[in-house]
Amino acid sequence: MSKAQKKKKSPKARRPKGAARGSRPAARGNPGIAAAARDNVVSIVGQGRVPERALEIPLSAFFLADHLTRRFEAEAELPHPVACQAGCDSCCYNQVELTPPEALLIGHHVAQQFSQAEKDLLLAHAARIIEIIKAMGPKESAARRREIPCPLLRNQTCSVYPARPLVCRAMHGLDRERCVAELRTGSLAGSQYYAHRHEIALSVSAGLQEGCKAAGLQSGRLNLTRALHDFFTQEHAVERWINGEEVFGG
Ligand code: SF4
Repeated sequence: MSKAQKKKKSPKARRPKGAARGSRPAARGNPGIAAAARDNVVSIVGQGRVPERALEIPLSAFFLADHLTRRFEAEAELPHPVACQAGCDSCCYNQVELTPPEALLIGHHVAQQFSQAEKDLLLAHAARIIEIIKAMGPKESAARRREIPCPLLRNQTCSVYPARPLVCRAMHGLDRERCVAELRTGSLAGSQYYAHRHEIALSVSAGLQEGCKAAGLQSGRLNLTRALHDFFTQEHAVERWINGEEVFGG
């Protein structure tokens, strides 16, 4: 993050009434947060269209979302503690959506941190999931999405935790047993959660997409599994994306 960005005043998330809500995602977008995330993208791209800047874009978005969430929650104690802990993986049985820069960061993380055998395993797993989703068709795969784990889930843990997307950073529950029960029954309702966490992530994601579009970069929302496949079936994905090429969904 540049000095100029650090000096900017952070936008505020709305304080939710009663905080915990019953189903997700019901969060509304916050225009101030989206504008801050958008400006960050434009500012970073303005510093040069090189791979380092491309990877700085999602990191800056994560910094903003994490910072706003922490600041918001420091103002008043949450009515119920968040129940998430190491080994909780109910949220990871789902099909995650993310923006192109987030997908590039995960691809880069895997490329740098995974052994060749781990990469091969991941890509084989991703290819299997793509086949399953294709065979089900869009309607059935949406309805049964909780039966399919994220390909990055390994030993009940996120294998790319520092690079996990915004939607995963916002995901949480207030009742672990309920999370587990809902996964067992394939429920799409979602456990109780705090709306502000989703509002912040949703708004930052919207701003990321707007910023990418304004900077002439491939934008929109991608399926994580397909995006991983796209990343590893072509060369120089990061460099090509920051120079305005369509890297995903070809
Ligand atoms: S990216 Fe990580 S946190 Fe997100 S669903 Fe996949 S395994 Fe879970």
